[in-house]
Amino acid sequence: MQPLLRLVALGWLDLLLPPRCAGCGGTSVRRGLCAPCLRTLPSLTEPAAAPPGVDALVAAFAYRAEVETWMQRFKYPAPGLGGLDATPRAVAELLACESAARAPGPRPDLVVPVPLHPKRLRSRGFNPAGLLARAVARASDAPCDPVALRRLRDTPSQTGLDRRGRRRNVQGAFAARRPLPRRVWLVDDVATTGATLAACARALRGAGVRRVVAICAAATPLGDGATSSASAARSCPPAPRAGGPGRRAS
Ligand SMILES: [Zn+2]
Repeated sequence: MQPLLRLVALGWLDLLLPPRCAGCGGTSVRRGLCAPCLRTLPSLTEPAAAPPGVDALVAAFAYRAEVETWMQRFKYPAPGLGGLDATPRAVAELLACESAARAPGPRPDLVVPVPLHPKRLRSRGFNPAGLLARAVARASDAPCDPVALRRLRDTPSQTGLDRRGRRRNVQGAFAARRPLPRRVWLVDDVATTGATLAACARALRGAGVRRVVAICAAATPLGDGATSSASAARSCPPAPRAGGPGRRAS
């Protein structure tokens, strides 16, 4: 990759130039999207059912339209970008932080991402949930432990499985380091049926966690036949609050 392109991909040019909004191209006070562009994204409005073992599921945005496009670009970067594309990453981190800003209750003792199996992490090069967890932890001034949870089995993708199949697929697939503190935020990129979050919550509770709040950048709207999630509200980087996104707890 050319040096300049590489700098852009890594986001280092932000150190020299004011960030540009990835939506309208205007200058912005933060990376990702400016406040007006953020407000145009589909928000999650209907109440969410938190999966078993999860006290509240928070996601500010509906996983469709531009939100789906941004999350896909974040999780599956085009080849040649050194494994990660800074722009969709900034947008995804912003969405996750907007969700976290709406989380009910006190600040967490620890922020923990849904882990990838080591084999998958090696082939992919990064854990999307891990990057989001780090951003959420920074924004909420809480510690982050990317290895508090481990994925024991390299489970097949949840895509294409129905609710029951998803639950079975991830049952017992996670283990937690112990002991863990009382209040944990569990971070994932997108909530669909909540089966993965439930399996993680079970492992966390087995390690002493009393309160699990799941924070996701986006969730599948209830009308799409999946569970979903959501509610959320403090802000990420120096972000003016973007109005709108739905709130829900369980
Ligand atoms: Zn904009």
